[in-house]
Amino acid sequence: MATDIQGLRKYELPQLPYKIDGLEPYISKDIVDVHYNGHHKGYVNTANTLLDRYNGIIKGDVTSYDLHGLIRLLTFNISGDKLHTLYWDNMAPSGKGGGSPGGVLGDKINKQYGSFDKFKKLFTEAANSNPGTGWAVLNYDKETDNLQIMTVENHFMNHLAEMPVILILDEFEHAYYLQYKNKRADYVGNWWNIVNWDFAEKKLQQYL
Ligand code: MN
Repeated sequence: MATDIQGLRKYELPQLPYKIDGLEPYISKDIVDVHYNGHHKGYVNTANTLLDRYNGIIKGDVTSYDLHGLIRLLTFNISGDKLHTLYWDNMAPSGKGGGSPGGVLGDKINKQYGSFDKFKKLFTEAANSNPGTGWAVLNYDKETDNLQIMTVENHFMNHLAEMPVILILDEFEHAYYLQYKNKRADYVGNWWNIVNWDFAEKKLQQYL
């Protein structure tokens, strides 16, 4: 549960929804350990440290600061927590994920893309074309009632404010390098085996 320090609620690292080796062989235990206990925890802790500083500015206790730099780092770290929480929840332990979605999501994918295989091909191409560090995402736009494949650079997901994330793939090197080295496309290809479509369906249902 979030705690309250100096009048601001803090971020907390969420529980991993499976064991640390639950995604093997597609994503190794070592990667999940570093990614969750190292990177994700780091974003949470840094967000809280920055919030303390930000709160100090609000209260007038901190009078020398670089607001632009602080807000940029705060954005990076809070978004880092949100994006990673979605990423973990969007995967299921080996043997319990993968396949293709049913439900409303399956219907929408078939209607919009013609088939799941076509959607999978396009999402994979988008992921593989994403330069540098970022994310491949499937968003839902209520305005058009359309699913939309998009990419996120770094952690700056502000443009997704009105387009909730239904499906998300972390493409930072820390997400695959220990196991896949520079073969990012192999990581992307294997990730389909552990997608948690039930979670994606639940996310979509929240916004319909
Ligand atoms: Mn990551």
